[in-house]
Amino acid sequence: MTKKKSSSVIIIGGGWSGLTAAIELLKNGHQVTLFESAKQLGGRARCVAFGKHRVDNGQHLLLGAYEKTLSTLNTCNVDLSSSLLRKQLRLLVIDRNKQTFNLKLGQLPAPLNILVAFLNLKGISLNARIKTCLFLIKLRFISFNLKQDTSVKILLRNQPNLVIERFWEPLCLAALNTSIEDSSANIFLNVLKDSFTTTPDASDLLIPKVDLASLFVHPAMQYIDQHGGNIALGKKIVKVETNNLSAMAIDVDGNNYNADHLILAGSPSSTLNLLNNSTLLEQTQKLLVQLEYEPICTIYLQYPASISLPEPMVGLSNCTGQWIFDRSFCNQNGLMAVVISASGDHMLLDKMTLAQIISDELTDIFGWPDAEKSLVIREKRATFKANVNIDQYRPDNATSSDRIWLCGDYTASRYPATLEAAVQSGLQCSHRIINSTY
Ligand SMILES: Cc1cc2nc3c(=O)[nH]c(=O)nc-3n(C[C@H](O)[C@H](O)[C@H](O)COP(=O)(O)OP(=O)(O)OC[C@H]3O[C@@H](n4cnc5c(N)ncnc54)[C@H](O)[C@@H]3O)c2cc1C
Repeated sequence: MTKKKSSSVIIIGGGWSGLTAAIELLKNGHQVTLFESAKQLGGRARCVAFGKHRVDNGQHLLLGAYEKTLSTLNTCNVDLSSSLLRKQLRLLVIDRNKQTFNLKLGQLPAPLNILVAFLNLKGISLNARIKTCLFLIKLRFISFNLKQDTSVKILLRNQPNLVIERFWEPLCLAALNTSIEDSSANIFLNVLKDSFTTTPDASDLLIPKVDLASLFVHPAMQYIDQHGGNIALGKKIVKVETNNLSAMAIDVDGNNYNADHLILAGSPSSTLNLLNNSTLLEQTQKLLVQLEYEPICTIYLQYPASISLPEPMVGLSNCTGQWIFDRSFCNQNGLMAVVISASGDHMLLDKMTLAQIISDELTDIFGWPDAEKSLVIREKRATFKANVNIDQYRPDNATSSDRIWLCGDYTASRYPATLEAAVQSGLQCSHRIINSTY
């Protein structure tokens, strides 16, 4: 049998998807050069400075179900136990009147764990608890899949309001970064299925104990370097071309780079910008223009080191802030990260006003003093909007050109725009190249 030749691959974009593709291709003996337009790698999951602290452009949360992400971190020799805080799912949601919703999964096998957790839930009528359990059983019966996609709001139409408000809505916003009115029920069900019906630890919350650069970017760079790959930072690619023999990337200074394959690993909007200059991949361009985007806003607030939360992550109901994380798990005592998913009036406020509103909410709920310092980060295009029937617009890794491939959290996947979708896309894309004839 003849051994397949090693291909040369140019990757445009050094987010989690592009880095994963680089690792997988190098692991399989291919040559990789990665161009990243920014001065740092990581893309939408990158590290920023806040005073003496290193924080992230947004507080990220992983799930036990993120199988491919965890195996990629393993490939890069990341010590998972010292880098990720693994907690059995416990959803503590507090509202401004200090009423709490506290869902705790026990040790039972899935999905019994979630059913028992709901039956034991305090502060919600028995009728509402039974209705929720019957709903979960019905979802299991239909294998967490609807023949015809609909919105999460319609999926939940017979659920008790209190359970929607305190559980389903915050969960949907956190997972899909899209309102329940607009979210695709099928994508939401995929997340529920993988988290609640497989193994008990699939629903575990994994909170990074280190910044995202230390978690993945630095180990990935080291892996790429040790396996002979090249990374060029601050190199924006402005045009791509192909001919019968190779594919070509052209940078902002007019330099040309040739390879057997090109992977476009930018966000959907930057990929569209890159393709706008050419008649290449018209079908891909038609799909990408259909995608809409949703923001994520993270407000870091510094309090005295003695201030802490009862759980690393607490939901906030009827507040502007949606989830609050106590960064003491990163040895940043007194530093809180408040996350607001999806669009809303908060995006119209100036940063100082928004930080003050959040600080006031936390004073009301927890009795804390005013925050000493704040940092507001708004990512306007944090994720694509996971609309009903969004699957129609998510392109495959393969394109109309045999030499150009797409990878990123937006390509066809069972998952919404997440680290796991990005990593899965990077793996899939590299395997398509490994198995291609060029
Ligand atoms: C604030 C925030 C919070 C989030 N929270 C979570 C969470 O809790 N859990 C979770 O799983 N996911 C979360 N996500 C989503 C997750 O971060 C993304 O899904 C993931 O990082 C996307 O990776 P990617 O590689 O597909 O794209 P990107 O990260 O966008 O990477 C694309 C890279 O390509 C580069 N690039 C683009 N164009 C060019 C060009 N022409 N030339 C060279 N380089 C180029 C860009 O600079 C960028 O570095 C969050 C995202 C944000 C923004």
